Amino acid sequence: MFDKLPISSETEKILTKSLDEAITVEEANHLMNIKGSDLYPLLATADYLRQQIVGNDVTFINNCNINITNICTVRCGFCAFGKDADDPDAYILDDEGILNKARGAVENGAREFCVMGGVLPDADIEYYEHVLTLLKGEYPNVMIHGFSPTMVRDACVLSGIDIAEGFERLKSAGLDTLPGTAAEILTDRSREIICPEKVSVADWVDIVKTAHEIGIPASATIMYGHVETLEERVEHIDIIRKIQEETHGFTEFIPMTFMHEYSPIFLEGQKNLGATGTQDLKLYAVSRLMLRDLIPNIQVSWVKMGYRFAQVSLAAGANDLGGTLGEDELSEASGAPDGVNASIETLVKIVNDLGRHPIERNSKYTEFYPIE
Ligand code: SF4
Repeated sequence: MFDKLPISSETEKILTKSLDEAITVEEANHLMNIKGSDLYPLLATADYLRQQIVGNDVTFINNCNINITNICTVRCGFCAFGKDADDPDAYILDDEGILNKARGAVENGAREFCVMGGVLPDADIEYYEHVLTLLKGEYPNVMIHGFSPTMVRDACVLSGIDIAEGFERLKSAGLDTLPGTAAEILTDRSREIICPEKVSVADWVDIVKTAHEIGIPASATIMYGHVETLEERVEHIDIIRKIQEETHGFTEFIPMTFMHEYSPIFLEGQKNLGATGTQDLKLYAVSRLMLRDLIPNIQVSWVKMGYRFAQVSLAAGANDLGGTLGEDELSEASGAPDGVNASIETLVKIVNDLGRHPIERNSKYTEFYPIE
C-alpha cells in the first residue's frame, strides 16, 4: 500500500500492521509524534479503515441542546460558560423555559434532546427525574441524551444513594443515553490543573461502566489541546478502549479540540493556543487505528472546529458529523467559529462534497433515516 510514498520505515511498519489489527499504545505514541511526509499515509490508512469498517455513510442527528442552567459549582479552567449563582448573567430554566426550547426543536424535526448545563449546588436525583419526566411527558418519542457523570455523581451524593440506583431512577424517568462528557483528559495530572473539582479518572470510569451495566449507552469524549501531553491523549484513548472491551456500552468517540480564547486558564496566563490542525488530524486518525470497529463511530465536532476543518477531519478516519445542535452555549461562550446551529442542508452539503453518503441517525445509532 505504501510502495510509492516517502515514508519512514517505522511508520510504514505500524501502518501496515494496523490494516489487520489495533495498534498498541507505544505505536500510537509514535504516530502522534510523526511529522512531514509520514502524515498523509497515516490519514490515508485511517480513511481506508473507516471505509472498511463503516462504509461511506456519514451520519448525523437532528437534535437540540437544552442547557438547563449556566450556574456551576465546578468551574473548570477551560470553560467560559459556567457562572456563579450571583452572577448577573446566571440563569436557570424553569419548566416552561425547558419546554419552550423542546417545542421549537421538535417543530424542526429533532430526534434528540441533549440536556446539559452547569452543576447546580442543590440538584439532586429528584430534580433530574423531574426534568426527564417533564420532557418525556410532552415528547415521549424524542430520545434524551442527558447529564454528565459529574452531575450524576453530585446528585447521587445529595440524594444519599449510590450511582447504580441513581442511574436506575434516571433510566426509569426517561434517560436514554449518557453524554460521556467530563472525561476531558483522563489523567489525574491534567485534571488537577484544568478541572480539579470534577470526577477523578477512577470515578469517571466507574460511573460510565455503571451506566453501561444498567443499560444506558454513553458517548465517549476527549477534550484535548490544553495542558496535556501527546502521551496523555493516547493514554486517554486506551482507557476508553479498555472500558469498551469490557462493556460495549459506548456508542461513539468524540474528540473535542480545546477552544482557548475565552477560557479562564488562557485569560489567567496559560499560553497554550490549543491543538494545531495536524494534531487534530492525527488525533482522529490514531483514534481510528486504536479503536477500529470496537467503537466504530468517530465523531467530528463542527461546532468546535468549524465546518471546513470538520469536513477535512471526516477524511482522517471519522464517520459522524454530530448534531444540528440548535444551540450550544458552552461552545458559543468559547467562540464557536461557525456558530452553533447547523441546518441539515449545510451538513448534507459537507458530506456530499466528500463523495460520501449523508444519513440521519438516532442517539443510539440503531435507526437511520434517509435524507429526502
Ligand atoms: S465544563 Fe461543565 S462542569 Fe466545567 S465549569 Fe463548564 S459547565 Fe461547569
